[in-house]
Amino acid sequence: LRANFSVIQKDTGFVNGLIAVLHDITEQEKIEMDRREFVANVSHELRTPLTTMRSYLEALAEGAWQDADIAPHFLEVTQTETERMIRLVNDLLQLSKFDSRDYQLTKKDVDFTEFFNRIIDRFEMTKSQDVTFKRKLPRYPIYVEIDTDKLTQVIDNIISNALKYSPEGGQVTFKVEEKSDKIEISIRDQGMGIPKKNLDRIFERFYRVDRARSRKMGGTGLGLAIAKEMITAHDGHIWATSVEGKGTTIFFTLPYEMSQEDDWS
Ligand code: ADP
Repeated sequence: LRANFSVIQKDTGFVNGLIAVLHDITEQEKIEMDRREFVANVSHELRTPLTTMRSYLEALAEGAWQDADIAPHFLEVTQTETERMIRLVNDLLQLSKFDSRDYQLTKKDVDFTEFFNRIIDRFEMTKSQDVTFKRKLPRYPIYVEIDTDKLTQVIDNIISNALKYSPEGGQVTFKVEEKSDKIEISIRDQGMGIPKKNLDRIFERFYRVDRARSRKMGGTGLGLAIAKEMITAHDGHIWATSVEGKGTTIFFTLPYEMSQEDDWS
């Protein structure tokens, strides 16, 4: 970078032009650095489950398969790791589609209140933890144009995280608020929270506050990065607020036109 600096200065003599060129170079370098880091991350994320599987398979091949007490457990580990790799590769494929803009939203007009309630119902029916759900949703329909499959994936991911990090007896609060030209959806938990300095980074690919913990829970570290791509594709925003030790809230918005019929107030 410094070498470029002096050459450019000699040719042009203009400091203004020099700043622009420097900026260009660092931008390109940053893209290249991000790319390398991404490839390193992917390799690492795949190597971890693969080496685990290799050890377990080796042990099985060396005789553990004959041991009725341990063989089922060893097979289960290899199965879990295989499933994680499938999840990871699916997530990567999805992100690569976003990167190459090779995706289409199949939007429909849906009542968001009903759509959201159904997803919450599904989690409420199947959750195994002692966590209570609180809904602060309008009692009337709110029509938005969304790709329901993609939005389901976004919301599933946020709720799964909220449950993962909820303490026993905790509460998860779901909220939908109408703003002038958008609706704001939030999902709040009472979990461990996220340190302020890490808050924006949770939407980055492979970023986890606690790598070991995320892995143990089967996470790929890509869920919120995908959520961000999907919300952005819907012209919305996604962000988080958090207080350490108190809990986390994930917010996102969707464009919304309040029509005459919708305005019940
Ligand atoms: P993961 O597969 O690790 O869950 P995500 O992209 O969904 O990946 O989330 C990225 C990271 O953000 C998580 O590893 C975790 O550190 C943090 N995170 C996400 N949601 C929460 C939450 N509700 N409470 C605390 N930390 C969270």
